[in-house]
Amino acid sequence: MYAIRGATTLSSDEPAVVREAVKELLYAIMRENSLSQEEIVCILFSSTSDIHSLYPAKAAREAGFVLPALYSSEEPAFEGALPLCIRVMFLVEGEKKGKFVYLRGAKRLRRDLSSRLTIALDGPAGSGKSTIAKKLASHYGILYLDTGAMYRACALWCMRKGIDLHDEAAVAEAIAEIPLTVSLGEGQITLLEGEDVSSAIRTSEVAAGASLVATYAFVRGKMVEMQRKIASEQSCVLDGRDIGTTVLPNADFKFFVTASSEVRARRRLSDLGKLGQKADFESVKKSIEERDFQDAHRKVSPLKMAEDAILIDTSGQTVEETLLTIHGKIQEKI
Ligand code: C5P
Repeated sequence: MYAIRGATTLSSDEPAVVREAVKELLYAIMRENSLSQEEIVCILFSSTSDIHSLYPAKAAREAGFVLPALYSSEEPAFEGALPLCIRVMFLVEGEKKGKFVYLRGAKRLRRDLSSRLTIALDGPAGSGKSTIAKKLASHYGILYLDTGAMYRACALWCMRKGIDLHDEAAVAEAIAEIPLTVSLGEGQITLLEGEDVSSAIRTSEVAAGASLVATYAFVRGKMVEMQRKIASEQSCVLDGRDIGTTVLPNADFKFFVTASSEVRARRRLSDLGKLGQKADFESVKKSIEERDFQDAHRKVSPLKMAEDAILIDTSGQTVEETLLTIHGKIQEKI
């Protein structure tokens, strides 16, 4: 089951106005999410206490919502709340990401959704940026693209073809026609020739190979083009090394997430452990430091904090603490 949220406001507290606003909101949610009534388990309404003339659930029944269970509640009145506002939550069968709909004055509640939002998260390996990026994407209901997975897929493609990764020309030739696709929805699936390689790219060998092929201008050009295309079509969070500097230099928000190499190595070790891969702390730390060096010293788009990025050091922080800081920075601006 998944949830879709939405809200709208009324011009006045009159039955006809409530009826029209509820109908407009519910139909917009159905349309935006290509839903049929059969898929909706229930619709929950909450309305501000200045709405008395018609129950939103009654308005929904009158608008033809006869199948889903309906529930309405009244919000306590508090100072500064958006007046004459109806909020709604659909609970829907299946597993998807719902598209939220905020109409009329309620757009004020979610300024992040009313226009396109792009967030660039850069930083070295193990800094926690992918965990944070996923949570940000889920919070704002926008897309998450893990650009590192794409460089990993490039390395895996060449490795499977038996290409020497130090041979730039041979790598470029192989990458020119790479059958790489990323399926983005609930989590990213990275595909090579249609095969799901999302787990196969998570080894230390592939990570080291990715760091090497990512130094080649041709490979970067090709990946950056794909990334920009994806990012141009919707609101999104991209994580990587060059998002704020090269891929999305005009991103609305740029964060550079880092942590000490000890902390990052411990996190990577735990990630590898969860994937059932054995590794020891010293070798993970060494490979992270080698990758950092290679990423920061390559000629094309090196790992570098964009001048207008906000630095976030996650060394002594929990994920929740980091997220609070980042949300704070985003809310200040939107
Ligand atoms: O983020 P992840 O560790 O999966 O990235 C693997 C490698 O891909 C990095 O070490 C880096 O060399 C390269 N990369 C890059 N630019 C990006 C994302 C990843 O060069 N935007």
